Amino acid sequence: MLACVKTELGKVEMMDIPKPKAGPGEIVVRTVMATVCGTDMHFLDEFPNEVIAGVYPGILLPQGLPMGHEGVGIVEEVGEGVTRFREGDRVIASCLTGCGRCPECLNGEPQICTGGGRLLFGCQAEYYVIPNADINATHVPEGVSDEMAVLASDIMSTGFGAIERAGLKPGDSVAIFAQGPVGLCATAAARAMGAGLIIAVESIPERVAMSQRLGANVVIDPRQKDPVAEIMELTGGRGVDIAVEAVGTQPTFEAATRVIRRGGTVSSVGVYGLLPQVSMPTMVPSFLHRRVVTTLCPSGRDRMDHLLSLARWGNIDLSPLFTHSLSLTEAPRAYQMFRNKEEGVIKIAIRP
Ligand SMILES: [Zn+2]
Ligand SMILES: [Zn+2]
Repeated sequence: MLACVKTELGKVEMMDIPKPKAGPGEIVVRTVMATVCGTDMHFLDEFPNEVIAGVYPGILLPQGLPMGHEGVGIVEEVGEGVTRFREGDRVIASCLTGCGRCPECLNGEPQICTGGGRLLFGCQAEYYVIPNADINATHVPEGVSDEMAVLASDIMSTGFGAIERAGLKPGDSVAIFAQGPVGLCATAAARAMGAGLIIAVESIPERVAMSQRLGANVVIDPRQKDPVAEIMELTGGRGVDIAVEAVGTQPTFEAATRVIRRGGTVSSVGVYGLLPQVSMPTMVPSFLHRRVVTTLCPSGRDRMDHLLSLARWGNIDLSPLFTHSLSLTEAPRAYQMFRNKEEGVIKIAIRP
C-alpha cells in the first residue's frame, strides 16, 4: 500500500509498504482523509528516527517512520477481542492512544497513559492500525463531516482543552497567542464556551481573517504593535482572565504570563519541541497569584464523542480550517506547504 514515510531527518517520501494486519485489540482502517499537523513537523524536523523508535518501540519500519496521526476512515479488518467495531464502520482514533488499564487511563486521561500509550502513527497512508480500538477509537455519527471528524481526533480537542483547563467562566476575557490551527481552535472554543472579549495575536492575513470568523473581537499583529502593551490597554491595565500559549516558544509563553490579571490563568498548549526550558518573569504583581496549566490533547473515546456531539448538535463548524486539499500521493508537498506556511495554508485535507 502507499504510505508517507519519514526516511531521514527533514525528509518524507511516498513508499510502497506492506498493508497492516489487525492484531489482538486492533482495527485496521481504510483511510478516507488525513492531514498534516504541527506535531508531524516536530517529528520530521527535530527528532531522528532512532530517537523516536527508542520512545515508541516497534513503531519504526525498515523503510522509516510511517507518518500521520490525524485521520478518519472505514474499518477494514477487526482484530481478536475487539467488541465495538465492525467492518464498514466510519471511525476516528485519538491521536494519543492509551492502554486502558494504567491509573491515568482509569482516571479518564489516556493522553497521559503510563502503560504503553503512544502517539498514533501511519494515518498518511491507504490503511492504518488503531491500537486498543475499543478505548481509543469511536464511531463518527452521520451528518458529521470528514473534516470535523479529523479535527476531533486532535487539534479541536487540544484547542477546547486549552480553554476548559483554564476554567473559563461566562464573560471571561481571553488572549490567545498565535492563530495557527490549534490557536484557532482555542479561539472557537473560547467563543463557544461563553468568553467575553477575545484578543488574538497573529500576523498572517489568512489566519487573522479566520480568527475573526471564529470569534476573535480583536486581532493584534505582533509585527505592528507590542501585544503585551496592547492587551493591557484593551483591558484597562488589568490584564485578561485567561491567556493561551499556542505556539511553543519562550517569547509567547512569557508574553502570556505578562498579560493575565491577578488570579488569572496561563494555559499552555504549544509544543516546545527541543526547547530545554521555558521561564517566566517573577517581577510582575500577578506572579504569586496566577495559575499555569499545561495540556496536550485530551484523548479517548468519551472525549471524542463529546467533541463529535458538539459538531453534530452544537453548531460548531471548524471545517473552514481546511484551506487546501491534496491527494495522498502529494503528501510530501503537503509537508512543504505546511512548513513554509505557503498560500495561507491552515489545514490540508489529504485523501487517497
Ligand atoms: Zn496533530
Ligand atoms: Zn494507560
